[in-house]
Amino acid sequence: MPPAFLFDLDGTLYTDEGPVPGAVEAIEELRRRGTPVRFVTNTTRTNRRALISRLASYGFRIGHEELFTPAVAAVALCRERGVGVVAPFVARELLEDLNGLELAGGVVGASGPRAPEAVLLADLGDAWTPALLNEAFRHVLNGALFVVLQKGRYWMGATGLELDAGAFAAAIEYATGKQALECGKPCPAFYQSVLAGLELTPPAGEVGRVVMVGDDLWNDVEGARKAGLEGWLVRTGKFREDVLASSGLTPDRVLGSVSEVI
Ligand SMILES: [Mg+2]
Repeated sequence: MPPAFLFDLDGTLYTDEGPVPGAVEAIEELRRRGTPVRFVTNTTRTNRRALISRLASYGFRIGHEELFTPAVAAVALCRERGVGVVAPFVARELLEDLNGLELAGGVVGASGPRAPEAVLLADLGDAWTPALLNEAFRHVLNGALFVVLQKGRYWMGATGLELDAGAFAAAIEYATGKQALECGKPCPAFYQSVLAGLELTPPAGEVGRVVMVGDDLWNDVEGARKAGLEGWLVRTGKFREDVLASSGLTPDRVLGSVSEVI
């Protein structure tokens, strides 16, 4: 049995149709066995509080401190770098998770007297406009630190696959020639921050590796493997057989759904 499990949320524990069948029971069973569980999402369209209440409405009992998001990591990164004023290009619902940072420009509108020291970019969905993209581009070109909450390629929306934040970040990177700093999955530092909180005390002898379970081949499976974890892929959410076949990637395990972890 692995010493701990990390779970992706969207596409793994739930989809737009509700909780994945058997997911609530699987998490409960792991808790009953005393196996630590953590939840690691790249969702940037909503805040931590709303995510926890959505999970609760599906029957998942998840504590605030068990849920790791890119916004939380971005705030920590800005503090480390001494950045105080940021231009947020993030969903308005996410602004409450940027506590401690002064917001100017981006989705909050006109800048104050101080130019933004950093651009924070996440998935804006239909709220993206050419004007907003150009504003972010100009700040970065003028020297603002470029921080991308996550660089997902695409995700499964209500009407089909949709471009994620990584695709928009790539446009600004291409135009400015500057590489964005990344906060969420698949960054090894993000995974390490989750593991650090687990305080695993391995017993003597052979020790299994912590497992990350998710529906994203790159962020969940490959990202976790690069951070020293096992990466297990689920055939729910954005999973596509042809993408797995052509990816050249080999998950440690492929499950029909998260219900099979127990
Ligand atoms: Mg997912």
